[in-house]
Amino acid sequence: MTASDCLFCRILEGEIPADVIYESDSALAFRDINPQAPTHVLIIPRRHITTINDLDAGDAELVGSLFVAAKEVARQEGLADDGYRTVMNCGEEAGQSVFHIHLHLLGGRLFNWPPG
Ligand code: 5GP
Ligand code: ZN
Repeated sequence: MTASDCLFCRILEGEIPADVIYESDSALAFRDINPQAPTHVLIIPRRHITTINDLDAGDAELVGSLFVAAKEVARQEGLADDGYRTVMNCGEEAGQSVFHIHLHLLGGRLFNWPPG
């Protein structure tokens, strides 16, 4: 897959608009277009990685930076104290529909466990 085929690479390039709420050297966070909670943010690495299955050991810092971004976004959104959920789906059976890894950050309501 090239950047031009990937929706989230196109958002990174500014070719498709997104409601960006946080940026770092390695990650971008923007609001999900179809929110599943009062706050639903997607946090993506600036480098294209298709799924968790494609991660190398050298990507550990990059993936870790997504969680550092999540913590910062949760604080910005006022979710840090009450709690929030982070999810990364891998593959179609898990519900992955955009094949550029992304951490979902959901908050502002109660969540069930196990997830559906
Ligand atoms: P997945 O199903 O791959 O775990 O999550 C993909 C997410 O991307 C979905 O929650 C979906 O609503 C969101 N999404 C799909 N297309 C767009 C878009 O063009 N803009 C934004 N902001 N979110 C999108
Ligand atoms: Zn991509």
